[in-house]
Amino acid sequence: MKYQNLQKNDSKIFEAIINEEKRQFFGVELIASENYVSESVLEAMGSILTNKYSEGYVNARYYAGNKFIDEIETIAIERAKKIFGVKFVNVQPYSGSPANLAVHFALLNSGDKTLGMNLSAGGHLTHGYKVSFSGKYYKSENYGVDKNGFIDMDEVREIAKAHSPKLIWAGFSAYSRILDWKSFREIADEVGAFLVADISHIAGLIAGGVYPSPVNFVDCITTTTHKTLRGPRGAMILTNNEEISKKIDKAVFPGLQGGPHNHTTAGIAVALGEVLEPNWKNYAEQIVKNSRTFAESLKKKNYEIVSGGTDNHLFLVDMIKSRGISGGEAEKILENFGITLNKNSIPNETRKPTDPSGVRIGTPAITTRGLKEKDVQKIAEFFDLAIQNPKNQNLKNEIADFMKDFEIPGIKI
Ligand SMILES: *Cc1c(COP(=O)(O)O)cnc(C)c1O
Repeated sequence: MKYQNLQKNDSKIFEAIINEEKRQFFGVELIASENYVSESVLEAMGSILTNKYSEGYVNARYYAGNKFIDEIETIAIERAKKIFGVKFVNVQPYSGSPANLAVHFALLNSGDKTLGMNLSAGGHLTHGYKVSFSGKYYKSENYGVDKNGFIDMDEVREIAKAHSPKLIWAGFSAYSRILDWKSFREIADEVGAFLVADISHIAGLIAGGVYPSPVNFVDCITTTTHKTLRGPRGAMILTNNEEISKKIDKAVFPGLQGGPHNHTTAGIAVALGEVLEPNWKNYAEQIVKNSRTFAESLKKKNYEIVSGGTDNHLFLVDMIKSRGISGGEAEKILENFGITLNKNSIPNETRKPTDPSGVRIGTPAITTRGLKEKDVQKIAEFFDLAIQNPKNQNLKNEIADFMKDFEIPGIKI
């Protein structure tokens, strides 16, 4: 049986894990940054690779005994190169935020100017938000979205020209449209800035060919490995520029980190192997189909979708406009029914970030479970029924009953 040692030796942690398995199994996971890894990824991550210290890089380690770690890290790098069409990859960043810190550390001096997407418009903390290192140690300016919820590249250009950043971030955590990589490149060239794409959310879609790749337009790319890419929690930095790659490697180690998490590296390698399978394209396509279907179903029920729809795996719903409740209230109501999503600011937000107007909905996780368009329509119905009547006694069981037909790798209830 799985976890037999834990059960015997640490029953508290064992029980919490079992409860979390049930929560995942009977619930509907709509958090756009989450996914379910395969059992192969779980096995790699749960392996003895965690025992090994490997400071440094392949064939240049500070400790002995890294023959097999080198093999594993090389496989991860080679697979990433193949998937994204790049020459240089660093697979060691502990997660997305440290990867973005490494890019700052590699390409900038503290106090240099940056330009990134506003957090409340869908950007990420590490692209210059004031409480993050990226906003504290760098002078960051930001761009937002227009009243329809789209990035206005003329506005980006104006701000870039007025501010002259040394680095521009293109990437998001909560934007449902296609980024215009080419225009970002032109703007970066006009002001002499580095252009970095943070594809954390969309890496799996890019790999599946359903979202345009930034690779030919940017100086480097950062991505998490645990979102649409469906690997373990981790990150990668990719580039075709040798000089930049050297700076990135130095920034990651010894600049910011010590020993790499080898069990994670192995999990990343396995996940990237799955991305290279022919059916990955179908998965990526289905994520977007499900996202579009979900947004359309809610629209039919008179929910207000930011920007009117979606081109990727996520979208935002303005709950205040739709039903007169905040994003925070909606999040809480839905959690009681086992529907997990997150409250989210909407463009030109008027409420505070702790209780904004919207919620963010994403389909990578439910798509991994095998839900198709007609199932997603059902989820949209559950969503609406829960919001309509938060006291609906039967609904939670009905939802759990519906979800138990869709398996999650590694969970047997
Ligand atoms: C998730 C995310 C990150 C940060 O990743 P963590 O692993 O949570 O540190 C960085 N950038 C973007 C755009 C993200 O969506």
